[in-house]
Amino acid sequence: MKIYIEFTFTYAEENVSWEIKKKVTQILYKLKKYRTGERWVFDFIYRLDQNTELYKKVAELYKQYPEEIEFSRLSYSIDLTREEKQAAAAFVPLFPKYFCEEYEDIENEYEECSACWVKRKDDMLFYVQPKGYIKSHQNDYGMAGFDGTGEVVLLPKLVKRLIEAGIDKKYFQPVLSKRKKVMGYILVSKNILPQGSYEDPNYKLAGRCRHCGQVKMEEDEKEIWIRQKTISKEGREHMKDVNVTYEFFDDYRELIVSKKVEQIISKYVKYAEFLPVFER
Ligand SMILES: [Zn+2]
Repeated sequence: MKIYIEFTFTYAEENVSWEIKKKVTQILYKLKKYRTGERWVFDFIYRLDQNTELYKKVAELYKQYPEEIEFSRLSYSIDLTREEKQAAAAFVPLFPKYFCEEYEDIENEYEECSACWVKRKDDMLFYVQPKGYIKSHQNDYGMAGFDGTGEVVLLPKLVKRLIEAGIDKKYFQPVLSKRKKVMGYILVSKNILPQGSYEDPNYKLAGRCRHCGQVKMEEDEKEIWIRQKTISKEGREHMKDVNVTYEFFDDYRELIVSKKVEQIISKYVKYAEFLPVFER
């Protein structure tokens, strides 16, 4: 499995000794050819497989001088071999490269806790502007990320294939235009996996909300590695084709899909990306 991380790396502007600057500069020199050509504020963005020696060096130096070095992990993408896909127990769909937009005057609503901001999906319908990728590919197999909410919208033709293959239609909630045209579907599920059954070591426990009682996780932003996601045996036994985690990650329950769902989507949508979840 190759995990390509996009990140920025440089030394802080103040109070950095020349020895540290020198060490950082040596790595920056080697990183030069991994620049993506884009910048994050003023810093270059690099893209590197986290299993390379160079990335390990970046990690070691940052760990050694967390105050003097500025490191930000921005995003990542995953390359899985067929065998690795086979070995996975489940998958988390990742935000695709195309996106779609909400209307400015219709907010897609979640049931939100006023104390901790976790958002639960109820049966409210979502709306999306009929433009861009989802409009021009309305009759194709495809998917797009929902700008703002982070949901993934599956286009109608793809959902048709999923249902034909035996995936229950209750997992697909239509996303409409103002004229009530079905533009696509988001994945929904009432099947909540047992507490603690899904683990993402990139997240730390933030606590249980006293107001709503939900358990909230927050990303460990200092973590420079993308760590393996796992599911317990109990969690796996509890799994249906579409599931959500008990805990809230970045305010939302994580969506976990079966291998079957992943296989069908990957078959029709070449750019679909999934995070593998392995049984522990
Ligand atoms: Zn709450």
